[in-house]
Amino acid sequence: MFENLQKKLTGVFKNLSGKGKLSEKNIKDAVREVKLSLLEADVHYKVVKELIDRVKEEAIGSKVLESLTPDQEFIRIVRDDLIELMGGKENNKITISRNPGFIMLTGLQGSGKTSTAAKLANFYKKKGKNPLLVAADTYRPAAIDQLVQLGEDIGIPVFTGDRVNALKIIEESKKYAEKLLHDIVIVDTAGRLHIDEKMMEELENIKKLINPDEILMVVDSMVGQDAVNSAKEFNDKLDLSGFVVSKLDGDSRGGVIISIRYITGKPVKLVGVGEKIDDLEEFYPDRYVGRILG
Ligand code: GDP
Repeated sequence: MFENLQKKLTGVFKNLSGKGKLSEKNIKDAVREVKLSLLEADVHYKVVKELIDRVKEEAIGSKVLESLTPDQEFIRIVRDDLIELMGGKENNKITISRNPGFIMLTGLQGSGKTSTAAKLANFYKKKGKNPLLVAADTYRPAAIDQLVQLGEDIGIPVFTGDRVNALKIIEESKKYAEKLLHDIVIVDTAGRLHIDEKMMEELENIKKLINPDEILMVVDSMVGQDAVNSAKEFNDKLDLSGFVVSKLDGDSRGGVIISIRYITGKPVKLVGVGEKIDDLEEFYPDRYVGRILG
């Protein structure tokens, strides 16, 4: 995970640690190298600029230059600023305040939305909840079958309704959930290859209909800058409650997970770390920054 970025940054830090006392030039050089490493990892330029401005301001002050362990102080500044930009220590947990509670999953096709729906349902089942999955991705019939299959594998019912009209399926699923005492309803919605107006309109209508406790977008971390741009577009239209960043187990470069919070203002709540049903984790920015910085 983020191996290239990790290698680059630890290289920069190692260079500093060999030097003993640091000059202003040493720090400026290190800041420049941190900047290049982040840009190469596909971190959004606005995020890189903000981070670099913050690090520069703090590091070129007396704190680092006069410190007995200037290299450690520099690393601490980079670490703290990165964590802050990724959401700090704020509470990123999913919050359900009704019974049944609704979680609406959105995202582009292939992002990992349907598998995340099943992973999330399984996560709640293991916590003793009684989840219901709703297959409302009516544009890709295979998505419905895929969810039904995943539901069977994990022993969680999947509501499919007429398989045609997403709003009707969801409306009926509400009654079904109430009748069968499901306490969490997870709705898989339509994904397309590209954002289009019809898709957004449908998602807005679904949001109005169920007024979900959480409306999350699943974003593929392998896609890079484009993923952050579509995250911003989705959030502008749907006022999301947060993100699930998928496929962090692959050789994703780190850009999406570092950028998304600062660019959209919404937190990453969960991350996908593999294809298996248990490969979904809660997201803590400080742990990820710990991994990136080695
Ligand atoms: P959807 O079109 O957004 O519903 O995407 P799917 O849920 O069908 O996922 C697309 C592909 O990505 C599938 O082959 C999934 O197994 C895979 N996938 C989803 N999440 C992850 C993840 O966190 N890690 C890996 N390695 N693969 C994932």
